[in-house]
Amino acid sequence: MTRRILSIAALLLAACTGGAPTSREFDGARAFTYLERQVAFGYRIPGSAGHTATAAWLDSLLRQRADTLVVQSWTHVTARGDSLPLRNFIARFNLKATERVLFMAHWDTRPVSDNPSYQGPRTPVPGANDGASGVAVLLGMADALRKLPPKVGVDLLFEDGEDYGIFEKEKNDVLIGARYYAQNLPPGPRPLYAVLFDMVGDKELRLYPEGQSLLAAPEVVELVWTVAKEIGHGDVFIDAPASGPYLIDDHVELQKVGIRAIDVVDFNYGPSNAYWHTPADTLDKVSARSLQVVGDVGMALIRRH
Ligand SMILES: [Zn+2]
Repeated sequence: MTRRILSIAALLLAACTGGAPTSREFDGARAFTYLERQVAFGYRIPGSAGHTATAAWLDSLLRQRADTLVVQSWTHVTARGDSLPLRNFIARFNLKATERVLFMAHWDTRPVSDNPSYQGPRTPVPGANDGASGVAVLLGMADALRKLPPKVGVDLLFEDGEDYGIFEKEKNDVLIGARYYAQNLPPGPRPLYAVLFDMVGDKELRLYPEGQSLLAAPEVVELVWTVAKEIGHGDVFIDAPASGPYLIDDHVELQKVGIRAIDVVDFNYGPSNAYWHTPADTLDKVSARSLQVVGDVGMALIRRH
């Protein structure tokens, strides 16, 4: 009787996942609580109270989960003369491994709403998706890695100062943490590849290969989208030609120092991207389900080794 129920349950599970083995060691619901917590801290603008509180929270969570936590702290002076206290967190697992992989996300949020089609006040961006979603996925991965240590070396990079300046005019005041990391790599072997998670919480998540990633590291794009398909997430990781623009994002700074880095990003957030870089980037636009899909793929990449 028990066996029969079990086998029916197994069949149902197989049906739900399209017959593919889907790892569920990543807990999307728990990851969503990490997203909510970040939003509750308020804006994570470098130098703000919310930024300071989030840094302390990340530091504490990561110390409990990683084998080693590397904290990079420095002050960045912007073109306008602002002094920003910035911090990167690198949660390292299995330091003895000779092969390593890197996953990354930015934890800061944007001080002004500057979506060109947005007409409202230029208030800061809440960053439920742009900031909190990628961090939530990395934290969920840290939970899974704590429970079952990886065979490959894993670094989870939480970088700061991605979204501070104006992308078109102030190139030195954006992607600051990724640039700092690229110029101050932690000791040990370089990662085989790096995967950036940016804006991966959208309730209507659709991930297409991004142009700059395809140009610089096509084999990593192929690996990630193939693994996603294998575990039954081909409906979200859509294997189609890049339809969006070539994005200037943190992956580019790593590519500049020869790391095979790609961007997993949904650059279609709301109708005509209407929620991106606006006050509408809020909790009601993101979902645990989307974090689950992305976290499953991250963990499946790690468990291949
Ligand atoms: Zn942004």
